[in-house]
Amino acid sequence: MKKAIVIGAGFSGLSAAAYLAKNGWAVSVLEKHALPGGRARKFESNGFTFDMGPSWYWMPEVFEAFFNHFGKKTSDYYHLSRLDPSYKVFFKEAQYNIPANYLQLQQLFESIETGAAANLDLFLKEAEYKYFTGIHKLVHKPGLSFLELADMQVIKGVLKLDVFTNIKKHIAKHFKHPYLRSLLEFPVLFLGALPRNTPALYSLMNYADIKLGTWYPQGGMYQVVDAMYKLATELGVQFFFNTEAKKINPLEHNSTLEVTATRQEKVQRINAHAIIASADYHHVDSELLTDQYRNYNPKYWDRKTLAPSCLLYFIGINKKLKNMAHHSLFFDTDFEKHGKEIYQYKSWPEDPLFYVSIPSVNDPTVAPQGCENMLFLVPVAAGLTGDSEALRNRYFDKLCSRFEQVTGNSIKNDICFYRTYSIADFTTDYHALKGNAYGLANTLRQTAILKPSIKSKKMKNLYFAGQLTVPGPGVPPCIISGEVVAKQVIKDFGETWK
Ligand SMILES: Cc1cc2nc3c(=O)[nH]c(=O)nc-3n(C[C@H](O)[C@H](O)[C@H](O)COP(=O)(O)OP(=O)(O)OC[C@H]3O[C@@H](n4cnc5c(N)ncnc54)[C@H](O)[C@@H]3O)c2cc1C
Repeated sequence: MKKAIVIGAGFSGLSAAAYLAKNGWAVSVLEKHALPGGRARKFESNGFTFDMGPSWYWMPEVFEAFFNHFGKKTSDYYHLSRLDPSYKVFFKEAQYNIPANYLQLQQLFESIETGAAANLDLFLKEAEYKYFTGIHKLVHKPGLSFLELADMQVIKGVLKLDVFTNIKKHIAKHFKHPYLRSLLEFPVLFLGALPRNTPALYSLMNYADIKLGTWYPQGGMYQVVDAMYKLATELGVQFFFNTEAKKINPLEHNSTLEVTATRQEKVQRINAHAIIASADYHHVDSELLTDQYRNYNPKYWDRKTLAPSCLLYFIGINKKLKNMAHHSLFFDTDFEKHGKEIYQYKSWPEDPLFYVSIPSVNDPTVAPQGCENMLFLVPVAAGLTGDSEALRNRYFDKLCSRFEQVTGNSIKNDICFYRTYSIADFTTDYHALKGNAYGLANTLRQTAILKPSIKSKKMKNLYFAGQLTVPGPGVPPCIISGEVVAKQVIKDFGETWK
């Protein structure tokens, strides 16, 4: 039986482990933390259950396809419901519930700008083409050769895919009103680049948002981690928690590999036929490998455009709030200015946009009775210095005041739980380059084959998965990343994919 070691139990690691186990491999997962999930871990305190990372469940078909591959359904593990409104948006002078129903959404668009309902149809028709070509074809490619694109409509349809126009222009072509433009540009913030630097291909995210919807697994996003962990365990994957990989060495002329790991300060050596490093790529490449085996040098990493980091606040409120949705976007300040502070000036933002998730609006299990569970998220540039508890507290004060003013809900005097998390924590917890939260930005120069390679160029049988390689950041892409890398392993070992 072939042996594989997966480093990291985030979404990409869990996915890769499950696929390899289904293919008959003996898989061991080494995870630095005490529980699986990586950036999607959870913590419990004072009766609250906080998801530490993702809160938007988009592209439900990707999750379904993953479980279906193993003869399961998402409903075997968790209960999903579509959120309505999908989210709420607060502008300076107006606030809107974004309805899940498409006709109602069109009416809302038309009420803001005459002709916008018909334009939304046109815009989404193109976005639908991009979504299906992107999700069903492009993202499943390992990004190892330009030839991968030769068998697809991609070359002839390259203009249709809008790879070379930016999404800002593309949206502006269809809509004039600043509210509608902000609304449609917002999903791109997940991709880690300014709308003007993001290929219009990514209007596929608008299709995902509007047509496929925002969903929620009852109990929280961690239910998905738990489901994948259970599935992997059922398939025979062995997990070693509190175990940190420290070094990867080739053995026996490179056909077997060895990982040196520490567990409760004890050093262990484990060998395998293949290693899938799903921990942050930069960390593995620059810290677990010796110079001669690295794929990339420090200059390469310095030139990369990182997706943002963020300031996170996990807040418990001692009362129920009025008129709040599960997801709220606060666009009451200048989107453009904040974007430049993240990507151009790389400075702490003056008046940032922020996002608030309140899962307890729909889910009583994540907060004690009569309380709200809140996450505040502010995207900030990766690599900023000066992250400190005092600075975080100053920002929180500002956010609270704006939240209170815009929503009419007072919260400052009702906080019963408070925890912050930011750049320094991403660095310590995940070995994240410059404390990034979402890996590499999806700019044109960092798409597909231009991303860090899933295969080591110097060490046979060493592979990479996760948000810094193909297809990119986000839960669905990371689940697909695990599949892509597992397929590559199976192919390289001359086996047939099961
Ligand atoms: C705050 C936040 C909000 C987000 N919101 C969304 C959202 O709403 N929707 C969405 O789709 N996506 C969202 N994302 C993105 C998504 O969560 C990530 O893209 C995805 O979880 C990354 O998975 P991964 O497997 O690449 O890496 P990770 O989750 O980082 O997993 C890597 C694992 O490797 C472990 N590790 C690191 N070094 C070692 C080592 N040396 N030895 C052993 N283990 C090691 C880490 O502990 C970690 O568990 C969000 C991310 C963040 C941070």
